[in-house]
Amino acid sequence: MRPIQMVDLKQQYRKIKEEVDAAVINVLESSAFINGPQVQSFATALAQYNGVQHVIPCANGTDALQISMMALGLQPGDEVITPSFTYIATTEVIALLRLTPVFVDVDPQTFCMDAAALQKAITPKTKAIVPVHLYGQAANMEEILKIAEAHNLFVIEDNAQAIGSDYYFSDGTTKKTGSLGTCSGTSFFPSKNLGCYGDGGAILTNDDALAAQLRMVANHGQSKRYYHDVVGCNSRLDTIQAAILEIKLRYLDSYIDARRKVADGYDAAFAGHPKITTPFRAPYCKHVFHQYTLLLEGVDRNGLVDHLASQGIPSMIYYPVPAHRQQMFASFGADATNLPVTDWLTERVVSLPIHTEMEEGQLQYITKSVLDYIR
Ligand SMILES: *Cc1c(COP(=O)(O)O)cnc(C)c1O
Repeated sequence: MRPIQMVDLKQQYRKIKEEVDAAVINVLESSAFINGPQVQSFATALAQYNGVQHVIPCANGTDALQISMMALGLQPGDEVITPSFTYIATTEVIALLRLTPVFVDVDPQTFCMDAAALQKAITPKTKAIVPVHLYGQAANMEEILKIAEAHNLFVIEDNAQAIGSDYYFSDGTTKKTGSLGTCSGTSFFPSKNLGCYGDGGAILTNDDALAAQLRMVANHGQSKRYYHDVVGCNSRLDTIQAAILEIKLRYLDSYIDARRKVADGYDAAFAGHPKITTPFRAPYCKHVFHQYTLLLEGVDRNGLVDHLASQGIPSMIYYPVPAHRQQMFASFGADATNLPVTDWLTERVVSLPIHTEMEEGQLQYITKSVLDYIR
């Protein structure tokens, strides 16, 4: 049995090595390291895959969210509603831009933004909502979009963990996550479902005027070379990364299938266990299992993590401290925010290895080790 990793990037690379190596060498030979033609061809391919008009590549997923907030013209003091139960990047960029993060609780089943909590958090200062499609499952976008429309708010989807997921609206239409809000940010961090071999990110939108603004902000606020209309930043996707992503995008659906198969295997092994809740699958979307996260009740979680580690099985707590309890946000009085579901989940979640290269034997070994510990 191969050693078990949270994500097996090496094995995945080996399967597409020839294609990837040729594409990288091609970029090296051309030496068009910045804004080579692969950047645009990848952006076009991703726009088509995701069903959006515009893809603006950038340097990473954090920048994608920051650039979105800048391009939408959010101003210091504007309130931005976000879950606290997320990776820090989502909330950090809000504070970085001197906007005010307003943390809301999550749904206890999907672990994504609770629409009722969102509704209650809206004030006259609210300008934007940042739903996070956590672990590969979409937030309840149909409800969130209705609320946003009623209050004239921007919706910036954090799609870093759910690229490739489908959202099923009640009128029968299906759209990809990342194409539902005003715009969306995604990340190509190596371990993400569509990962490159370094850092990368993109912003997606159907709004032509916003797309122009996004491109300008990501490029030093420049509309015409050396004419800088607004304060922007420098955020680009390398040509080499774009060339790699262009290849990997063709495999994304098969990667998602592989992840879902692992999730099915885990689900079957843990089904009906009184101390284990397997991931809920919301009927409104296709879960793409960026993470496979169990909810434990009456289990010594640290003991389980240690037990698994002693058997050569990594596991992770995503995330051990929710945003509203981070020192970073102390000045916002965030720790006073009452988010009982977030705190409850934070104490009980544990994520098991999931990736595209998991073997049946590895899966069985992991499930047996978990069940040996949790009787
Ligand atoms: C990974 C991630 C990001 C940030 O992406 P980077 O490319 O690492 O900057 C943002 N939000 C969520 C939910 C993520 O998982």
